[in-house]
Formats: sequence, C-alpha cells, structure tokens
Amino acid sequence: MSLSLPRVTTVVTDIEGTTTPIAFVKDTLFPYARARIPAFLAAHAGEPVVAGICTAAAVLGGVEASDLGAISAVFLGWMDADAKVQPLKDIQGLIWRDGYARGELHGEVFPDAAICLRAWSARGMRLAVYSSGSVLAQKLLFGTTRFGDLAALFGDFFDTGTGPKRAADSYLKIAAALRARPENIVFLSDIAEELDAAAAAGMAAVQVVRPGEGTIAGGRHPAVGSFGDIVVGQAA
Ligand SMILES: [Mg+2]
Repeated sequence: MSLSLPRVTTVVTDIEGTTTPIAFVKDTLFPYARARIPAFLAAHAGEPVVAGICTAAAVLGGVEASDLGAISAVFLGWMDADAKVQPLKDIQGLIWRDGYARGELHGEVFPDAAICLRAWSARGMRLAVYSSGSVLAQKLLFGTTRFGDLAALFGDFFDTGTGPKRAADSYLKIAAALRARPENIVFLSDIAEELDAAAAAGMAAVQVVRPGEGTIAGGRHPAVGSFGDIVVGQAA
C-alpha cells in the first residue's frame, strides 16, 4: 500500500532505524570508536583539532587537559552513559573518518532507502538529512555505502546543532534553512516523538516501521514499511 504525498518537494530523513539498521551504529560504529579512543588520542593529541577536542573534554569532564589517560576515561564514560556531548561526537567522527578511509568501515543503508533516494533525487526532489549523528558522521556513512556515494544526493545535512529532534522549533529552523514551506517537506523517521515535532512545525511526517528494527508504531502518523511505499511529488 503506497502513501502519496503530492505536495512534497523536499525529503528530510533520519538515519538510525530509518535509512540504516540501528545495529550498524550500536554494534559497528560505537565499538569501533570505543576500541580506538586511547590509541587515537596518543597518536593525534598534538594536532590542533584533536587538542581542541581534548581540551573541551577535559573541561567538561573535570580532568587535566594534559592527562590523555584521564581524557580517554572521560570519553569512555560518556560512551557508557550514551551522553550526547560535542567533544565525544567530534572525536568519534575523526576516528570513524579514519576507519572509512582505511576501508574498515562502510556505511550501511537499507536497499529500499538507497533505491528511492536515488530515484527521488533523479526526479528533482531535494534531499536532506536530520540525524543526531554529527554532519561529518552522516556524510561518511552515506558516502561509503555498497550502493555507492549517496551523500552526493543530499543538498543539506542537519544534526543536533540545529536543535533537539523532538522540538518543533528544530524543524522550523530546517524549513527556513531549506527555504521551503513546511507543508512541502516530509520528514521520515522511526521515532513517533520526532514525527510529532515535525508535524507540529507543519511538515508531513511519515513513520518508517521496519521489521527487525524494533520500531514502536506510534499510530499518530502515516506509517510505511519501506521507502518504496512512499510516493513524493506529483506522480509521473
Ligand atoms: Mg531514528
């Protein structure tokens, strides 16, 4: 059963649970970064970008900026607590960038998402990402899939620097940044509360409920099992 959204000209998508298995983030990306934090700091702490991240982590974590062991422990503690703090996201992004560059990591995307994103882009739809993962992490993930470089399909990338994903104001900011009217934008996510916020901002909101992802169907928004069930724009 397909869902027709004729007014939509712009698709904004979540990643985790929506375009990408949650397991890729939880079981591949996070452990990859976690295992490499101490060695990465030891190798790169002399570089200005890494030094800046370490200083920010030291301040937040209340440890000496010169104590790399203590800073590593702060990062690992944040990972254990699933803390959404910028220095952690920044250091993870750099470690993942290395991993993708080495070919040790490849972004995972569901086949239907890859196929539809390409088709929508080819039909002139504007595509954007809104994810709690950093913009760098988003670009790396989509840039290295087995379906090729999907990052190039997206005109814009938004992370929580724009605002929390469950706040309507974040979606108003995204619409403004895209210079699009909210009613011409659809937001795709697995999380009902994020869709509530997008809908409150006037966007179309569609829940992607994938078997195997443990998605809890909210019942408040149209739901699809696959991107292939969504028809955006005027049907050809
Ligand atoms: Mg999600």
